[in-house]
Amino acid sequence: MPSIRWSVAPRQVSVALTNACDLRCRYCYAPKRRAQLNYEQLIEWLAQLDGAGCFGVGFGGGEPTLYREFRGLCETVAKTTRLAVTFTTHAHRLHEELAADLKGNVHFIRVSMDGIGSTYEALRGRDFTALCKKLSLARSIAPFGINFVVNATTFPDLDAAIALAHDYDASEFLLLPERRTPACSGIDETTREQLRDWIATSRRSVRLAVSESDADGLPTCDPLTGEIGLRSYAHVDAFGKLRRSSFDSIGVAIGTNGILDALTKLEAIAGENQ
Ligand code: SF4
Repeated sequence: MPSIRWSVAPRQVSVALTNACDLRCRYCYAPKRRAQLNYEQLIEWLAQLDGAGCFGVGFGGGEPTLYREFRGLCETVAKTTRLAVTFTTHAHRLHEELAADLKGNVHFIRVSMDGIGSTYEALRGRDFTALCKKLSLARSIAPFGINFVVNATTFPDLDAAIALAHDYDASEFLLLPERRTPACSGIDETTREQLRDWIATSRRSVRLAVSESDADGLPTCDPLTGEIGLRSYAHVDAFGKLRRSSFDSIGVAIGTNGILDALTKLEAIAGENQ
């Protein structure tokens, strides 16, 4: 395919619907300043991305189920675009009625589960048995994966967490080495080394994935090596700024000319003009 015909949009876009969350995880890197996206504007941006060849949108936050129009948003995007719809959640707000509304309008769910049992409860401040019930509920909506922040506290739980993911029919296990935030120092070198060894030697019954920024030196499979940077992924924060990732300090406000215009500006600033 000549590059002139490549899709303009990134393959996948994540969207922080709101910065609000009812949990207080110490290692959370979501901005704490109040913000949430305007529903009508967001629907327009997603239509623009769909028209420009984007494959999927992942809603997050904060906690995306706290976004007031969350159900309608998933339904509208699923019914009016070709985008795959996913969301990342702590899962404690999922309930039967919400699950029934989301079924058919969501294609994949990512559930955050850092550690199991008492490790999880100490880190997330929520009951682990309650979480397990929510895993079954998530599976009734769509295929789901586990997001697992890896640090010195959660690393010893990895094998048991993989076994649990298998038991609950998770289709993916995403490793997220802990990031440095104002409140915590991020994964230490010893644990990172242990994680590398574990990936190389452990036997697993669930497919493993790793955040792209932490994949260096790991035996990953990347079938789309030409699709890098903003061709592959972009992030919209809850203030309506387009970024290369949720961690990136450079952001371009999405103005009246729409999200593709912001993408062009961000590519220029980031030196990714192609
Ligand atoms: S559940 Fe997620 S968004 Fe909420 S505080 Fe924890 S890490 Fe942050």
